[in-house]
Amino acid sequence: LTSDERDVLARIEEEDVDFLRLQFTDILGTVKNVSVTADQAEKAFTEGIYFDGSSIEGFVRIQESDMRLVPDPSTFAVLPWRNTESGKAARLICDVYDTKTGEPFSGDPRHVLKSVLEEAQEMGYTVNAGPEPEFFVFDKDEDGRATTETHDAGGYFDLAPKDLASDLRREIIYNLEDMDFEVEASHHEVAEGQHEIDFKYDDGLTTADNIATFRSVVRATAEVNDVHATFMPKPIAHINGSGMHTHLSLFTEDGENAFHDADDEFNLSETAKQFLAGILDHAPAVTAVANPTVNSYKRLVPGYEAPVYVAWSDVNRSALIRKPAARVPAASRVELRSPDPSCNPYLALAAMIAAGLDGVKRELDCPDPVRENIYEFDAEKREEYSIETLPPNLGAAIDELEDDEVITSALGEHVAEKFVEAKQAEYDEYKAEVSEWEHDQYLETF
Ligand code: GLN
Ligand code: MG
Ligand code: MG
Ligand code: MG
Repeated sequence: LTSDERDVLARIEEEDVDFLRLQFTDILGTVKNVSVTADQAEKAFTEGIYFDGSSIEGFVRIQESDMRLVPDPSTFAVLPWRNTESGKAARLICDVYDTKTGEPFSGDPRHVLKSVLEEAQEMGYTVNAGPEPEFFVFDKDEDGRATTETHDAGGYFDLAPKDLASDLRREIIYNLEDMDFEVEASHHEVAEGQHEIDFKYDDGLTTADNIATFRSVVRATAEVNDVHATFMPKPIAHINGSGMHTHLSLFTEDGENAFHDADDEFNLSETAKQFLAGILDHAPAVTAVANPTVNSYKRLVPGYEAPVYVAWSDVNRSALIRKPAARVPAASRVELRSPDPSCNPYLALAAMIAAGLDGVKRELDCPDPVRENIYEFDAEKREEYSIETLPPNLGAAIDELEDDEVITSALGEHVAEKFVEAKQAEYDEYKAEVSEWEHDQYLETF
């Protein structure tokens, strides 16, 4: 055992943990659990825990189904909402291995992200990422099912007593802090029942783990309080949806921010601009991964603070990428505003980072920032500024992904193929549906 692994065993003992949840995610980003008793911990570290991968979305074909989970000791955390009298539960995030080859399983999203981060490392960079996940809290009905009735009537930065959900938000934050999150800010968002909780940026892998954990903590804490929290991107039409703005920067091996240049007008280095240009260049394909549901595209429409047009800005928030004001050099970064919290955080970060790194490798030229409100541009003006539009729906986004070799190869053949297959099926199913809107429009008209 390594010393980190021995530390975990000691903490299991100290904290009186009975059950371990070994976690990993499927291609769609759903957290999967294999629960073992705490006395299996040592075996989990030394031998791994075997499971049947054929029942996990997008993992393997039925005839090659044995997978092995190997826990990452740095991810040990006691689950705060499971502290019952019957004993505590803790989780460990795992890497998935192929039992046949003994190699990391190419269908494991965590492995996909690790590979992209290794590529950054080879270029001399570590990647920092900081997300701003938003979510809605809704009441439940008498049968305990989620409704779309908002849990409160607060607005942006409203304070109690209107913000009835602030107690819930506080409880979520305490639970996150118990799991070693550094929560930096939290506030009521623009829409009724909508919230944002921001936690500190970290290296790419830790941030992806944190996003997965964050979603579990938010949902579980809401559940305990008998309300429903959702990361669905656009649960209610005609009001703001939920995004997950993602801040990115590259640091050099000696801990300098490679994105900062004090002499530049925007305090952005050449590397930062190339990275930014890479994301703009691959934006359509990245969208398929960072906005992976049919519903994601109901959010990416003009007028609700979500991006639609492929441009960057140092001043306004209608652009796809914003350069936030930075008080210290370490904080120079770019903010990608398209991702939404229904994404698989490992794959979404892998796609964004691969896009940016490709821009650095190709030394792409960065276009000028757009300082006007792009929502108000007409087609002609967009043409004049050469501003492209994000894919209008999941089907179009998948087509873009299939055509983008940089992003598909960052995902790896296995994940790219399974992802496209699953998402195409989802889109085809949706296309054949008849919606309430259509009934309202046509049922009595024709
Ligand atoms: N909710 C908005 C979105 O969909 C973002 C609002 C904000 O944080 N300014 O991206
Ligand atoms: Mg914010
Ligand atoms: Mg926000
Ligand atoms: Mg933001």
